[in-house]
This record gives sequence, C-alpha cells and structure tokens, in this order.
Amino acid sequence: MSVQIGLPAPRIEEWEWQFEGACRSADPELFFHPEGERGAARRRRAEAAKAFCANCPVADLCRERSLDAREPFGVWGGLSEDERSQMLTRRRRAA
Ligand code: SF4
Repeated sequence: MSVQIGLPAPRIEEWEWQFEGACRSADPELFFHPEGERGAARRRRAEAAKAFCANCPVADLCRERSLDAREPFGVWGGLSEDERSQMLTRRRRAA
C-alpha cells in the first residue's frame, strides 16, 4: 500500500536550485542521522551540516521547500528536524 504525504510535484524547473547547494560536495551522511544516534554525537553532526547551510546560496529556498514538504528527516536549510517541527508549529499558531 502506498502512502501519499503531499510532496510537491517533481518538476525540474522547481528543483534546479539544488544544483547550487553547498552540500553537493558534502557527505550526505552528515545531513541525516544514523539509526540510534543521540545526544552530543547527534548535535555535533547536525552542527557540522548546518555549517554547510550557513554558507549556502540557496538556503532560503531549501528551508522553505523542506517546510512545505514536511521533510521528516535531516538538516535542510540550516534547520534540524526538531527546529523545522517547532517552526511549523509556530507558523500554524500564528495563522
Ligand atoms: S541549505 Fe543546506 S541542505 Fe539545503 S542545499 Fe544548502 S547546504 Fe544543502
């Protein structure tokens, strides 16, 4: 059974910005926590990923896309999973 979670349509013109991402030269594992990772190790890895995002020319687009898509995992646009969840909650309350 497939589950639809409302992801944006995969149209190339809407995703070209990803070619400009600072993380294209990074190890993808930096952005997604391995199973069981917790505490200081998780914080350190996420902060290292965020350092790429801090210097990324498409960080704003990346952040908004990840929020629109309700990305459940990883660091996107300089935000961790928990930070995206908190931001979405704040936006819902403000709306
Ligand atoms: S903001 Fe971060 S995750 Fe998004 S494209 Fe840039 S470096 Fe990659």
